[in-house]
Amino acid sequence: MSLSIANGGAQQKTNMRLDDTSHPGRPGLDELVPSRYALRVGEIDVMVVSDGVLSLPGAMLGHNVDPAVRAAWLEDMFLPPDMLEWALNAVVVRSGGRTILIDAGIGMDPGLNLPRTGRLIQRLEAAGIDLASLTDVVLTHMHMDHIGGLLIDGVKERLRPDLRIHVAAAETKFWESPDFSRVSMPPGFPDALRRTAKQFLDEYPSQLRPFDKEYEVAPGVLVTRTGGHTPGHSVVRLASGGDRLTFAGDLVFQVGF
Ligand SMILES: [Zn+2]
Repeated sequence: MSLSIANGGAQQKTNMRLDDTSHPGRPGLDELVPSRYALRVGEIDVMVVSDGVLSLPGAMLGHNVDPAVRAAWLEDMFLPPDMLEWALNAVVVRSGGRTILIDAGIGMDPGLNLPRTGRLIQRLEAAGIDLASLTDVVLTHMHMDHIGGLLIDGVKERLRPDLRIHVAAAETKFWESPDFSRVSMPPGFPDALRRTAKQFLDEYPSQLRPFDKEYEVAPGVLVTRTGGHTPGHSVVRLASGGDRLTFAGDLVFQVGF
């Protein structure tokens, strides 16, 4: 993956700004650290917004290996052996008149004591991004930390009725009856994942736009099913004016670098 950011020469349209932080009359939205990052990929506007940090057992990264081997591997990567601090990021993309949210954060804490997560919707508003301005949502997959933001009370009512939600058909099929027999998760996670995915499928059937292999959401915004992390896991590739950016979802973790 190569990433370069073009600053000079690009024509900035006034209605394409993603970095407007002024929102008078909305107290309480500002945080000391905004937890967002805006860039341009050619003609495409991109803003990365943090949903927070999920603390997960390091064992989840390789539950079938000798714990001592796993601990040495993590330490070799300058990471603690017991707990993985998993950054949850979502992205807002504007291209060709469409405003696209890629992944939706974890939403309400699903009873798993995850106090540092679930900030996405609040941070979108703090960045001046109205939920009603979203034309599309792309889901890299249907784990609860990627769909939960859409299930917060009141969010669906603020989204446009003609919102299109793009997700791989293999992903919706998997979550109709998920098989977790070959994964290891902390207590409570399997039930929460099942429950959240079912609720999402129940609440957004008319917005769903499943794709088989690949779909171009907007000019230069291509979602492709890769599979692996989940059966329908997908990555989103942005390409414009010679610049490239790939949003890999949960395909890569910090131990991969
Ligand atoms: Zn995931």
